Amino acid sequence: MGGEVMGGEAMGGEAMGGASRAGEVLAAALDLAAPAECGGCGRPGTPWCRRCASAVVDDPIALTPRVELDVAAWAAGRYRGPLARAVVELKEHRRRDLIPVLGQVLSHGLLRLAEWEQLPTARRLALIPAPTRAVAARRRGGDPVTAIARSAADRLGPHVAVVPLLSTAPWTRDSAGLSAGRRMANLHGAVAVSRTRPAGLRPPHRDVAVVLIDDVLTTGATAAAAVAALRGAGITVASAVVVASA
Ligand SMILES: [Zn+2]
Repeated sequence: MGGEVMGGEAMGGEAMGGASRAGEVLAAALDLAAPAECGGCGRPGTPWCRRCASAVVDDPIALTPRVELDVAAWAAGRYRGPLARAVVELKEHRRRDLIPVLGQVLSHGLLRLAEWEQLPTARRLALIPAPTRAVAARRRGGDPVTAIARSAADRLGPHVAVVPLLSTAPWTRDSAGLSAGRRMANLHGAVAVSRTRPAGLRPPHRDVAVVLIDDVLTTGATAAAAVAALRGAGITVASAVVVASA
């Protein structure tokens, strides 16, 4: 787009108008590269301000989802304030610069859970991102949950890997706005487990503990469907950890 403007009308008759338009295009491109607004509070001048950075540091929260989940569920933080806004900015406004911010929140939560002995002791940890509908992932410029999990794993070291194994069938609807019961019905039988998986995750995968990862836990329907699908494929989920509780 920039090239078109520079090579085309900007260099033509109206030099001044063209130059300012090219300037606007460049400013817009720079905005995309480094957003000038804090993703947590909207404060101008920084993509993530110090106040928001300290506000999202929290101890993990034990969750009791509405849909029964027979593994422990934890949130790295509460879905409010800067953390909630950052999740929305990433998912709805493609603020991918916030992936490391949310990855840090998740890695901090996982470390705390390990300290509290709430994660199984295994030689390795596999983070399996909750399933995303392909169409939603495309619209959001890539699956944000997998990206957040990768960022967390990078911080946690070589014993932690992200293993994206789950997808949802194309007939599932976006679950936003659906009740718990409708979410369950929507997801029933719709979560597929990839047949290609790392050797360490073949049953009974004793050396690898599996944690299901999602950005937000609302009713628990997605997590429950994912845990059931993985169990059906011989993979035992130890717990579900989300970035933020709803
Ligand atoms: Zn802020």
